Amino acid sequence: MRTVIVGGVAGGMSAATRLRRLDEDHEIIVCERGRHVSYANCGLPYYLGGVIEERGALILNTPEGLAARFALDVRTGTEVISIDRARQVVVVEEAATGRRYEIGWDRLVLSPGAAPFVPDVPGIERALTLRSVEDMDRIASAIREGDVRSAVVVGAGFIGLEAAENLSHAGLAVDVVELADQVLAPLDPELAQLVANELGDHGIGVHLGAALAKVLADAVELTSGVQLPAGVVVLAIGVRPEASLARAAGLAVGPRGGIKVDARLRTSDDRIYAVGDAVEKEDQLSQEPVLVPLANLANRQGRMVADDIAGKPRPFGPVRGTAIIKVFGQVAAVTGWNEKRLQATGRPYLAVHTHPGSHAGYFPGAEAMALKLLVDPGTGAILGAQGVGGEGVDKRIDVLATAMRAGLPAPSLVDLELAYAPQFASAKDPVNLLGYVVENRLNGSERSVQWHELSARMAGGALLIDARTPAEHAEGHIPGSLNFPLDDLRARRDEIAQLACTGREIIVYCQVGQRAHTATRLLAQWGYEAANLDGGYRTWSAGTSAKTALGPSGERHE
Ligand SMILES: Cc1cc2nc3c(=O)[nH]c(=O)nc-3n(C[C@H](O)[C@H](O)[C@H](O)COP(=O)(O)OP(=O)(O)OC[C@H]3O[C@@H](n4cnc5c(N)ncnc54)[C@H](O)[C@@H]3O)c2cc1C
Repeated sequence: MRTVIVGGVAGGMSAATRLRRLDEDHEIIVCERGRHVSYANCGLPYYLGGVIEERGALILNTPEGLAARFALDVRTGTEVISIDRARQVVVVEEAATGRRYEIGWDRLVLSPGAAPFVPDVPGIERALTLRSVEDMDRIASAIREGDVRSAVVVGAGFIGLEAAENLSHAGLAVDVVELADQVLAPLDPELAQLVANELGDHGIGVHLGAALAKVLADAVELTSGVQLPAGVVVLAIGVRPEASLARAAGLAVGPRGGIKVDARLRTSDDRIYAVGDAVEKEDQLSQEPVLVPLANLANRQGRMVADDIAGKPRPFGPVRGTAIIKVFGQVAAVTGWNEKRLQATGRPYLAVHTHPGSHAGYFPGAEAMALKLLVDPGTGAILGAQGVGGEGVDKRIDVLATAMRAGLPAPSLVDLELAYAPQFASAKDPVNLLGYVVENRLNGSERSVQWHELSARMAGGALLIDARTPAEHAEGHIPGSLNFPLDDLRARRDEIAQLACTGREIIVYCQVGQRAHTATRLLAQWGYEAANLDGGYRTWSAGTSAKTALGPSGERHE
């Protein structure tokens, strides 16, 4: 039995090595177009910035090493140019010699990945993309040879921001150009703004709502006419599944342009499997096909295909798009849907923002984080989560992604028994805390208002109370708010009675929402209709300084 694998990196190499572990007698041939197999795509940006110093560290294995350990026949510089399904052969072309020949197969695994999207604008030939070791080498020589001092990165997604940070580490003045009006599209604007701030704090120019018009000899020009100096231009505006080989072979391609596979990762021809960035996956919430080009999924799918070929089928489940990035000192992580997507599809949701510390505040070194949880108000199901901050964001999003995968409703987060010592967490872990807030909101013991709903509510007559100290209020507050520090509320009950005598709604905020929660509970017990400004002044500040409006009453402050 012979399996031919197209693509020798994440998905392809996982399939090859797993298959060997399961079947010593199987003939396994891996065809890789590039010069390297089994390289760490995810590490490529870090070599540019000198964070990874040894280029060789990125190349995790070689054809010789794979032959010795796994008895794999790995052919680099070998592109599969067509698939003949009737004759069960692939036609390959050797880059070095131009020689074409056929390889027969019993099973075929496609793991060709995704190709960077390149827009059709004048001068684009000068722009570089970052997908392979060869691409990385090209960017490295461009920045290390000659007198290059500036770079423009087009696209503020995960790869774009990693490239921007590392080009900055390499000593270049960097500008990031992004068509959307926020960085990192999977985040909502009030969290993305924290990442944009971090970029700005490290001297990166962030140009949002800006489109590339042309690439000039030493600059780029935006459609606004603005020119940005660009000794090097890196394009990172997204990837498209490499589905052309499959399409030409008559295999079904789905609505998002990825190869269509079933739960066993079989294409429309059940002798041919496909995995990784090239295939469409099923979204956990909508059950619709989605493209999620992430390494974890490619690796897991590669393994599952090997199991299937070896006669141990195990279905691949729906995905949540769990992802993470570090941008200088800030970590941003996400799982599931964001609020923008929930709004766009009209799906009901409850949003909760918190700002816990990474660990107990009394223990040195605690770092702040912003967490956001999106919950189905009917069932309590977790719809998505996002986090931005320092230490500990990864752990919380991973726990929430696990809860989401397990179908654990958000109120059950209070029951999670998570490891605690003051260096690592608080006795009430930030994940437990999210559960408490959701529980309060779902059982009606606390009402909330979102940052983007506030101006409409105030226009409708709501009274806005700042429950922080006078010093905090003086340092910065929401226009129109009155300062009633939490500890003074009981003593000033009459003043509140006068201000809210007509049944006026009272919205309370503090820095992050915790003191305001105590205040709203008190006000509710006095008979007022009181609501907590979710996430407090911190969320409101970030949200209103973002360029993206969220919700029908999206608001900004200049
Ligand atoms: C710079 C960068 C950083 C990233 N960082 C992260 C990260 O931090 N976290 C994360 O989850 N994901 C990250 N990713 C994405 C992750 O690398 C991919 O999701 C993963 O590699 C996909 O695996 P794959 O097997 O589908 O494709 P790939 O790993 O891209 O492998 C596809 C291979 O197939 C070869 N190929 C294509 N067509 C043919 C053909 N016809 N014949 C022969 N060979 C062919 C290509 O040359 C390529 O080497 C990053 C990607 C890049 C480029």
